Amino acid sequence: MNKIEIYEKLRQLISKEAVLLDEPMNKHTSFKIGGPADIMVIPESVEQVQWAIKVCKDNNIPYFIMGNGSNLIVRDKGMRCVVIKIADRFKDVIIEGTKVVAQAGILLSTLSKKIMAKSLKGFEFASGIPGTLGGAITMNAGAYGGEMKDVIKGAKVLDQNGEIKYFSLEELELGYRTSVIQTKGYIVLEVEIELEKGNYEEIVAITKDLTERRTTKQPLHLPSAGSVFKRPTGYFAGKLIEDSGLKGERVGGAQVSELHSGFIVNVDNATAADVLGLIALVQNKVRENFGVDLQTEVRIIGEE
Ligand SMILES: Cc1cc2nc3c(=O)[nH]c(=O)nc-3n(C[C@H](O)[C@H](O)[C@H](O)COP(=O)(O)OP(=O)(O)OC[C@H]3O[C@@H](n4cnc5c(N)ncnc54)[C@H](O)[C@@H]3O)c2cc1C
Repeated sequence: MNKIEIYEKLRQLISKEAVLLDEPMNKHTSFKIGGPADIMVIPESVEQVQWAIKVCKDNNIPYFIMGNGSNLIVRDKGMRCVVIKIADRFKDVIIEGTKVVAQAGILLSTLSKKIMAKSLKGFEFASGIPGTLGGAITMNAGAYGGEMKDVIKGAKVLDQNGEIKYFSLEELELGYRTSVIQTKGYIVLEVEIELEKGNYEEIVAITKDLTERRTTKQPLHLPSAGSVFKRPTGYFAGKLIEDSGLKGERVGGAQVSELHSGFIVNVDNATAADVLGLIALVQNKVRENFGVDLQTEVRIIGEE
């Protein structure tokens, strides 16, 4: 089947607005970088996710699941696959007592506000992470001493055979920026979170403080994918990069942030090649100076 035939097949169950041909990925990544995806699907129900997977499997077409694109570097040639974007059309939430059940596409910032309105505490750390709940589980996202692992009870996922399964916290195998979702290629559909009753004013104050720390220490005014590298054991990536004299270093339109050396920012229409070139330069210099191998936290995808 060619691209148009796959498109027509997907359209049998999914509306025109939600199946996009040759969609530029720079419109869907926080880095504002990335060539076109052959097809992008933005499902609004579990059935539509299952349908997209079935069409891909039946026709031997690779697919890639994304959320808000805040941890992705998409190469300049784009993606020769169907990108299934589980985001803003898939965001229902139910809060009952201290239990929250939310669909994977909701943004953490939106979910945090809903949780705050119910005076539930424990989710403040996530309020400034610019991803979806599904992306956050996959990456076991964390900040300021908290991580998704601390608040999750379990998740409804789609396995490789298109079957819906419930995974408990243990089964999700959440580790430092990893999970079984990532290693096995499952799809997060819905997440169960357990929090504690708290004091509304205190929750607001903690959230405000964390927002302020983020806005003063991170280059949020420029496109990026957050911290590029994982924290190496015993070190901080940002410090190693700064101590290597690389603060402000540039390759094309990509720059090591002047504000936070762990971030690479898109200062002037950077290409993925610019960012990847700068990543390689940083890794080489840090290895040379400190003998430390920096591993990327961001996911690098797309045609090479
Ligand atoms: C300014 C800035 C600050 C950041 N700060 C932090 C921070 O403090 N802490 C932190 O941990 N991260 C941070 N990040 C990185 C990023 O926001 C997180 O990794 C986030 O969890 C990614 O979510 P996403 O929805 O954008 O996922 P995407 O970037 O779209 O995808 C990330 C990975 O998750 C997978 N994925 C996404 N949704 C699903 C799903 N439903 N089912 C299965 N797999 C899925 C993708 O395949 C991919 O492997 C920051 C990023 C930026 C730009």
